Amino acid sequence: MDKVIHNCIIIGSGPSGYTAAIYAARAGMNPVLFTGQEPGGQLMITTDVENYPGYPDGVMGPQMMEDFRKQAERFGTDIRYELITKVDFSEHKHKIYTESGEELMAHAVIISTGASAKWLGLESEQRLMNKGVSACAVCDGFFFRGLEVAIVGAGDTAAEEAIYLSKICKKVHMLVRRDEMRASKIMQERVNNAPNIQIYWNSETDEVLGTEEVTGVRIRNTKTNELSEIAVSAFFVAIGHKPNTDIFKGWIKMDASGYIEAVPGRTHTNIEGVFAAGDAQDNRYRQAVTAAGTGCMAALDAERYLVEREII
Ligand code: NDP
Repeated sequence: MDKVIHNCIIIGSGPSGYTAAIYAARAGMNPVLFTGQEPGGQLMITTDVENYPGYPDGVMGPQMMEDFRKQAERFGTDIRYELITKVDFSEHKHKIYTESGEELMAHAVIISTGASAKWLGLESEQRLMNKGVSACAVCDGFFFRGLEVAIVGAGDTAAEEAIYLSKICKKVHMLVRRDEMRASKIMQERVNNAPNIQIYWNSETDEVLGTEEVTGVRIRNTKTNELSEIAVSAFFVAIGHKPNTDIFKGWIKMDASGYIEAVPGRTHTNIEGVFAAGDAQDNRYRQAVTAAGTGCMAALDAERYLVEREII
């Protein structure tokens, strides 16, 4: 066991975690940041980010997270490439357990564990995972260049990924379960303007087809109940995200979907000294810039907490 009581442990390495680290490190809090199993978080599977201020020509998601990490490190953040699998918030010396079994203690904890992609829950989807089934067009689209692919979802993520795929694939079959899309107007326009994206309205995925690899998808029209098959080489799932908050259940107050309920306008949770930032506590905005903003807030709230207790 690491006997030191750290001032501040940050769990997660997306925009919120790294921003919290930059502020905490500059405030002399000597933060330790655990990256989790996807260092850099969701932006690592994004291409162009055009809406983050300060990058007038846009930036690739992985490059942006590399910049965030370097900035956090520059001020002395102790970055550890490990997953936290358990916490114990029963005392003011909050306990954190790593995957390798190490126990650490901290006065303040910042939760910035983000959210992960959701799946449809079909057996065929699981079976053909990484054999043509993917939740990341940017990571895996390249393998299917010049071929026909399907994507399920109708939000901004699905629209963005369909457009990305349309540039490298022969045709994109987009499966929308209702008769309208949730995506923003501008993204819908871009989808409509892509000549090789075909939208299937009122269409649910019945089964992903294939034995060794994806060969097609069977869809059901929800109005007529009619089944039909489309021959595709890949099936991309883009139906939203789930907050990565399971390890905090029983300690931290959350809503029914698992999003952390912070004090409105602040980052305080129901546990003293534990703060929440980023997508783990935000199912409304979910933007890199809002995540970074709440990361800053969490570090300032944690700093105030440590100062009030004369810990720093
Ligand atoms: P959303 O929750 O916004 O959308 C999920 C979509 O998946 C919905 O259209 C939903 O359908 C559909 N869906 C859910 N479950 C199923 C299912 N079982 N079968 C078929 N379809 C299903 O998630 P996103 O990831 O798209 O976006 C999350 C947030 O991030 C949003 O606020 C979005 O605006 C933002 N975002 C912004 C971007 C940008 O500004 N560049 C890029 C990407 C995301 P239904 O509509 O019927 O519920």
